[in-house]
Amino acid sequence: MYDFLIVGCGFAGAVLAERLAHDGKKILIVDKRDHIAGNAFDFYNEDGILIHKYGPHIFHTNSEDVFKYLGQFTDWRPYEHRVLGSIQGYSEIFTSSSLKKFSEVYEQFIQFYY
Ligand SMILES: Cc1cc2nc3c(=O)[nH]c(=O)nc-3n(C[C@H](O)[C@H](O)[C@H](O)COP(=O)(O)OP(=O)(O)OC[C@H]3O[C@@H](n4cnc5c(N)ncnc54)[C@H](O)[C@@H]3O)c2cc1C
Repeated sequence: MYDFLIVGCGFAGAVLAERLAHDGKKILIVDKRDHIAGNAFDFYNEDGILIHKYGPHIFHTNSEDVFKYLGQFTDWRPYEHRVLGSIQGYSEIFTSSSLKKFSEVYEQFIQFYY
């Protein structure tokens, strides 16, 4: 016999199930898909390439508590997100430190078109 039935095994359902199980409750979690993780699901294909089935996902948080909580279940690897942007022939890899430059370029872009 279960204490709770949770429908959906994405982040929301999985965290809820883990928290309730942590408190000693017996959980049944179901999903209409044939895998866990909801839209964040990924898998290695036959060539060993990690595929994000429903679109690319990158973990980000500014919460120390969330980071610590998830750290119980996963290892981390350093990652820096870079976006290659091109406006009016001006190309650059944008990082968080170059966002000011992006806003300057964007301003010029807006002035050009409007
Ligand atoms: C393309 C894309 C990129 C994203 N990138 C990021 C990112 O970089 N970083 C980030 O933090 N977030 C990202 N997100 C958002 C992230 O995917 C969601 O915030 C997260 O998956 C939401 O989790 P969830 O549990 O609420 O819902 P879902 O992940 O949608 O999980 C819900 C689950 O419930 C199941 N379900 C629904 N109805 C039923 C039913 N009636 N019966 C049985 N099962 C059911 C579904 O099959 C699904 O598996 C992105 C989303 C998309 C689409």
